[in-house]
Amino acid sequence: ASFWPLATLARQEKLVGGLLVPGFDERSCLSRYQSAFYRKNLARSPSAHLIRRLRQHEALQRRCGPGTEAYRAAAARLRSSSHRNGSNDDNDTRGACRYLVLVPYRGLGNRILAVASAFLYAVLADRVLLLGGETSLGDVFCEPFPGTSWLLPPRFPIGDLQNLTGDVRESYGNLVQQNDSAAAAAASGLRYVFVDLDHSCTYHDKLFFCDDGERQFLRRAAWLVMRTDGYFVPALFLNPAYQDELDGMFPRKDSVFYLLAHYLFHPTNEVWGLVTRFHRSYLRGSDERLGIQVRVFDGDAPFQHILDQILACTSQEHLLPDVAVTQEPSAGRGARSKAVLMTGLSSWYYEKIRWKYWQSATATGEVVSVYQPSHEEHQLSGYTTHDMKAVAEMYLLGMTDKIVTSGWSTFGYVGHGLGGLTPWIMFRPENHTTPYPPCRRAKSMEPCMHGPPFYDCRAKHGADTGKLVPHVQHCEDMSWGLKLV
Ligand code: GDP
Repeated sequence: ASFWPLATLARQEKLVGGLLVPGFDERSCLSRYQSAFYRKNLARSPSAHLIRRLRQHEALQRRCGPGTEAYRAAAARLRSSSHRNGSNDDNDTRGACRYLVLVPYRGLGNRILAVASAFLYAVLADRVLLLGGETSLGDVFCEPFPGTSWLLPPRFPIGDLQNLTGDVRESYGNLVQQNDSAAAAAASGLRYVFVDLDHSCTYHDKLFFCDDGERQFLRRAAWLVMRTDGYFVPALFLNPAYQDELDGMFPRKDSVFYLLAHYLFHPTNEVWGLVTRFHRSYLRGSDERLGIQVRVFDGDAPFQHILDQILACTSQEHLLPDVAVTQEPSAGRGARSKAVLMTGLSSWYYEKIRWKYWQSATATGEVVSVYQPSHEEHQLSGYTTHDMKAVAEMYLLGMTDKIVTSGWSTFGYVGHGLGGLTPWIMFRPENHTTPYPPCRRAKSMEPCMHGPPFYDCRAKHGADTGKLVPHVQHCEDMSWGLKLV
């Protein structure tokens, strides 16, 4: 059916249009070079400038990363509070190593979006990205940079990264409220600067999105620690300081996450086994694959109004056929087959939909098979097998041809974003009623930023940030959110 044999794929495809470098040990991370074979084609190709910037950034990660002399020296400066939080030479920060320690948290979808965003910021700001906190991302993803690690080494001098909040003395939100010289003086007495981008962070914290390097304290800080649980790339596109660079890297603005995700997130062999075995067993042989991601925020009990919403959406948008009411059409030999991949914590929705197509034939004669890899019942954190299933399912969603997702869900954003798929988004129900319309085709494959700034960096006053540039608009599923289109 629709599977592409290894041999026919060009090397360029394996390297995702030049996004990846050759030379990694293939066996230790099979997904890195194999995932191309599970995709029909690249939804978007990386620009030459993006490829150049990635190669430069890899060199930076290698030169300054854990295990290097530069890292040891920077960590030692961080350890001794008597030293300034500056680079070796405040007048020339170009050659020095500067770091961004990201503390991702919440569910896997949240953490994946946070890492992709922080990575893009690290590239723009020439900082080495290191993942800190109690992140288990190392269990589910391979190292993305050749010859170095992106995991923060143990015994990092700043303890308790997980519990840093915007209230600390080192926070960007505090420093930015002081005048330039006071902020510079304060920052030089600090070991690091902390940027709080939690979705509940303050107006002052969010001024970080407008930072243009003019107020030197951020640029001079050798160590930046950032806490975020979501996708903040749309805000970077609103900062005039990054505009030219981002235009060069992403001539098309609708596929930033798609490209970053294919560069960064390569499932470990155990997770990849879950993906490929499921794909081979249940998805590969069908003529068409539909993904349906069900995420319920009102509790784990089954809800009739959500089942009704899924059925209304897939019927109105002609994603699933109706069932025959009167006479059963003869399902000829050449009947088209459609595989439906459902994901969710509950199996109830899956059971209902599977029964619908088991109980009755389809009006079109199509054969509909419905599958759901797991039903974990409750969201857990810190359990490796649970996280592995979640990542595998996001990947499998990305291997479908069309996808329906639940609004507000970062899990769904990652699924459709990885697949380069523009989803049909189901609106989040209110008052336990099926919304009308039940879903809508999104404007792009990009994730939604849930906690955007409401400030125009150029005009220096509050503004509707969904109206400043054509490629940053409000999201379909969250009216105040922002997404690239
Ligand atoms: P969000 O809460 O929908 O934005 O997505 P997150 O991924 O950030 O957090 C939800 C977490 O609940 C996931 O990381 C999983 O641990 C779990 N979860 C939610 N939906 C599913 C699902 O469909 N399959 C699996 N295996 N886990 C899920």
